[in-house]
Amino acid sequence: MAIPADAGLSTRCVHGHTLEDARGSALLPVYNTTTFAFPSTADLLDVIDGRKPGSLYTRYGMNPSIEALEQTLATLEGAEMAWAFASGMAAEAALFLTHGRDGIVCVGDAYGGTLELLERQLPLLGIPTHLILGSELGRLDGLLAGGARLVFLETPTNPALELLDIAAIAAVAHARGALLAVDNTFASPVNQRPLALGADVVTHSATKYLGGHSDLTAGALMGSRELLLPVRDWRKNLGSTIAPATADLLMRSLRTLVVRVRQQNASAQAIAEAMAGHPRVARVLYPGLAGFPGHELAKRQMHGFGGMLTIEVAGDGAAAARVADRLRVFRLAPSLGGVESLVTQPCTTTHHGLSPAERARRGISDAMLRLSVGLEDAADLIADLRQALG
Ligand SMILES: *Cc1c(COP(=O)(O)O)cnc(C)c1O
Repeated sequence: MAIPADAGLSTRCVHGHTLEDARGSALLPVYNTTTFAFPSTADLLDVIDGRKPGSLYTRYGMNPSIEALEQTLATLEGAEMAWAFASGMAAEAALFLTHGRDGIVCVGDAYGGTLELLERQLPLLGIPTHLILGSELGRLDGLLAGGARLVFLETPTNPALELLDIAAIAAVAHARGALLAVDNTFASPVNQRPLALGADVVTHSATKYLGGHSDLTAGALMGSRELLLPVRDWRKNLGSTIAPATADLLMRSLRTLVVRVRQQNASAQAIAEAMAGHPRVARVLYPGLAGFPGHELAKRQMHGFGGMLTIEVAGDGAAAARVADRLRVFRLAPSLGGVESLVTQPCTTTHHGLSPAERARRGISDAMLRLSVGLEDAADLIADLRQALG
C-alpha cells in the first residue's frame, strides 16, 4: 500500500515500502532464500531481461526483503533510489569504484576505514586520492581542475564534531562537473538530509543509528537512479549485498529511528550542558552548544544536533583513560548509534593508527573522549560522568 507522497519522516520509517505478501501478512515475511523458482523459461527470461519485475538471486539484490529495505532507505533521504550493502565500508567501496576512478577528494576528517581505503588501497589500483582538512577548502577547486571527479565528506566529523557546509562544497564540486557524496552516518536522516542541501549521493553505515541496537552490520547508498544504477554491477560482482535476514532486522530498526534519534539528541544536549560547566572538563565539543564554532552552521543545515559529543578531560591521555575506565553506564567500545551509551578514547581506538603529529594536525587530542549517547536516562548518564570525573 502506498502512503501519501508528502508523508512525514516517521510515517515513512514505519511504512516506507510498497511490497506485499500474497498471504496478506501485516509485516513482510523474511525471504530467507538464495534463489527463486519460475513456472517456465519464458517467465525466467522476462525477469532476467528486465521486462517484468521479480525476484531472482539474492546476491543480485533481487529479493523482496532487500527491495523493501531499499525503498524505505531511499525515502528516508528523499532519494530516487537506494542500494543496501553488507556494511558501510562496502557501500563506500562500491561508490568509489563506480564514481571515483578519475580521482577522489576527501574533505575534513573521516571514518578510519574510509581514510585507510582512500590513502592506502585505492592508490594501489591507480586511483588518485587527496585528503584535505576542512580548513584547507581553498585547495578543493584546484584538485577538481586537476581531474578529481568525486568529493567525499562527513559532517559532523569524528571525533571533533567539525561542521562542513554541504551546500557550499556542493557548489564548488558542481562548478567543476564533479559529484559530492556525504557520509550521513553521524547525523542520521533525522538530523540532516544532504541531498536536499545539494549533495548527489549519501552513504550510511547502517551499523550505527539506522540499525540502532549494535546488533547488525550494514550499509547504504542513496541518490538518483542515474548515479546509482551503475553501482549495481559492482555490488553484485564484489558480492557485497546485504543478507535478507539482516535487511529485515534493519527494517525493524528503522521503524523506531525517529523516536530513538530525537531522544538521543535531547540527552546529548543535556549532557553537553552539564559537562560544559564541569571543572575537570577542559572543552565540550557539541554542535548544540551556543559557543561551539559550528553552532550557526548546524542550526542552518541540521534539524537536530545529534547524539554524539566529545569531551576533553582536563589533563593528559592517561587522565582521560582513567575517566573512561571508571564509567559504569557508558561501555568502553569503539562504535556508536546504539541504544546503549558508549565511550571511546579516539587516540586508542578510531585514530590509534595515526601518528601523534597527524592527530594533532586533525585537532584530535589524547585527552578527548567521544561519547555516543544511548537511550538510558540522561540523569544516569550525567551522574556516571560526574562520578568518573571524580
Ligand atoms: C562505522 C562507520 C563507517 C563504516 O561502517 P561499517 O558498517 O563498520 O562498515 C563509515 N562511516 C562512518 C562515519 C562510520 O561511523
